[in-house]
Amino acid sequence: MPNTRQFDRALVWFRRDLRLADHTALSQALARSRQVWCAFVFDTEILDALPSRSDRRVEFIWHALAELDAALRARGGGLIVRHARARDEIPRLASELRAEAVFANRDYEPAAVSRDEEIARRLAEPGARLETFKDQVVFERDEIMTGGGTPYSVFTPYKNSWLKHLEAHPFKASGLGNARALAPPPRGAGGVAAAVPRGGPLAATVPSAIPSLESLGFRKTNLLELPLHTGMSGAEKLLRAFLRRIDNYDRARDFPSVRGPSYLSVHLRFGTVSIRHLVAHALALSSPGARAWLSELIWREFYFQILHHHPRVVNHAFKHEFEQVHFDNDPARFAAWCAGRTGYPLVDAAMRQLHATGYMHNRLRMVAASFLVKDLHIDWRLGERHFAAHLNDFDLSANNGGWQWAASTGCDAQPYFRIFNPVTQSQKFDAEGKFIRRYVPELAKVPLKHLHAPWNMGPLEQQAASCIPGRDYPGPIVDHDEARKITLERYAAARAREPWQD
Ligand SMILES: Cc1cc2nc3c(=O)[nH]c(=O)nc-3n(C[C@H](O)[C@H](O)[C@H](O)COP(=O)(O)OP(=O)(O)OC[C@H]3O[C@@H](n4cnc5c(N)ncnc54)[C@H](O)[C@@H]3O)c2cc1C
Repeated sequence: MPNTRQFDRALVWFRRDLRLADHTALSQALARSRQVWCAFVFDTEILDALPSRSDRRVEFIWHALAELDAALRARGGGLIVRHARARDEIPRLASELRAEAVFANRDYEPAAVSRDEEIARRLAEPGARLETFKDQVVFERDEIMTGGGTPYSVFTPYKNSWLKHLEAHPFKASGLGNARALAPPPRGAGGVAAAVPRGGPLAATVPSAIPSLESLGFRKTNLLELPLHTGMSGAEKLLRAFLRRIDNYDRARDFPSVRGPSYLSVHLRFGTVSIRHLVAHALALSSPGARAWLSELIWREFYFQILHHHPRVVNHAFKHEFEQVHFDNDPARFAAWCAGRTGYPLVDAAMRQLHATGYMHNRLRMVAASFLVKDLHIDWRLGERHFAAHLNDFDLSANNGGWQWAASTGCDAQPYFRIFNPVTQSQKFDAEGKFIRRYVPELAKVPLKHLHAPWNMGPLEQQAASCIPGRDYPGPIVDHDEARKITLERYAAARAREPWQD
C-alpha cells in the first residue's frame, strides 16, 4: 500500500538526484505536505575522505546545485545548502524547520544505507520520519528475481526478466505519466517537462549563497573546459545530442575516437537526469542502437542489485574461488599504470584520458583494467580504488562490477582465460591511432604501422619519429605473452584449491 500520510511541514533532502523533473521524493513531498523545504548537505564525511582537494565531482555538484537553487527560486522556493556531517545536519535542520518528515530518494551503497538508518533513528527521537523512495533505478532491490526467488547473477536472463517486468508494471515517472505514455519529445526538440508548479507548497528560503568551492576546501578544476556540461540543462543538452546519433550507438560505441556513447554517466551518477526519462527515450525507438543503449542502462541496474544482494563484493571477489588469486602488487608497475607510462599506447592513452578529463571510454576501462590485473598482476581492488578516486561518474556498483568483470572474479564476468591483448585491442578499436595520438603526444610522429607497438621500430625509424624507447616513451613494462601465461597459471591454481582452504 502506498504511504499517503500527510504532513504539515516537510524537508526534501537532495543527494544524488540534483534535478526537479521526475524526482520521486520531491513530488511525493509536494503532494503530501502543506509546506516543503529543500536542502543539500556537502557531507564532510564524504568530502574529507576524497584523496585530492581538486575534484571535478565536487565542482560538478556545485554547478548542479546553483542551477537547482535557481530553478527552485523561480518556483517560489529555494535550496538550503549546508557544509557539515549529514548525520548531524539533517536531524538538526529538520528540527530547526519543525519538519515532521524528511523525504529522500534511496541510495543503495552500504555506507549510505547505514547513514540513512542512523538518521531515521535520530529523526524518530522527536517524532519525525525519514521517508525514502525508489528513484535512481527503474527496478530496485528484489523486484527482479528468478523463478526460484533468488537474485540473478547472469545478465541476459536478468535483462529479459527486467523487460518483461516493465511490460507488466510500466513505471510512473512522477508527474509525467507511465513509460509508454511518457512520450519523449520529438527528436531534436528535447526539454524535460518541469514537474514542479509555481505557487505550490514550496517554502521560500532566505537566499543564502551556496558555499564557495574554496570555503569547502576545494580548488577549481578544468571541469568547465570539458564537453560534459553541468546540471539539469547540461544533461538535457547531452541527451539531445546523443538522440541524434543513438541509432548508430551499437556500431560506434566501441571506438574511443568516435563520439559513440552518450557521456551521460556523470549525470546519472548525480541524478541531473532521470533514469526513467532515458529509458522512455530508448523504449520509444526501436533501432538496434537504441536497444543496445537500453541494455547498458539495464547493466547499471544489474550491478545495483548485485551490490544490494551481495554487499560483500565491495571488498571480496563475487566468485569465491578467485578470492585467493596471487597478485604481485609491484608498486613501480602500479605507479606506471596510474601515470599512463606502461609503454602500451592504448593503455597509456586511456589512463591519461582519465586524468585529463575524469572520463574513460568503456572499451578502454575494460582494456586498462584487464591490463592492470592480467598483465601487471596487480589486485583489481587497487585499480578499482584508483578509478574511484578519478572517475567523474564513479559509482560503487558499476565500478566494482566493471572491475570484477575485467578481473574475471565477478558475476557473469569475462572468463579468466580470456585475456585482452593490449596491442590487438589497440589495432582493432583505435585502428587509425587518432585516440592514441590525442593523449600520448610523444608518439605523434610514430608511423601508424608501429603506433600500437612502438618498440618494434628499428633504430632509424625511432630517430625519424623522435621516439627512442626508454628516453621519449617507455619501453613495454611487461611482455604480454609471458604475463598472460603467468595469469593463466595463477587463476587455474586458485580454482584448483580445495574449498576448505578458503
Ligand atoms: C573497469 C570498469 C569500471 C567502470 N566504472 C564505472 C563507474 O564507476 N561508473 C559508471 O557509471 N560506469 C562505470 N563503468 C561502466 C561504463 O564504462 C560507463 O558507464 C560508461 O563508460 C559511461 O559512459 P557513457 O555515459 O558515455 O555510457 P553509455 O554507453 O552512453 O551508456 C549509458 C549509461 O549506461 C550505463 N552503463 C553503460 N555501460 C555500463 C556498464 N558496463 N556497467 C554499468 N552501467 C553501464 C551508465 O550509466 C551509462 O551512463 C565501468 C566499466 C568498467 C569496465
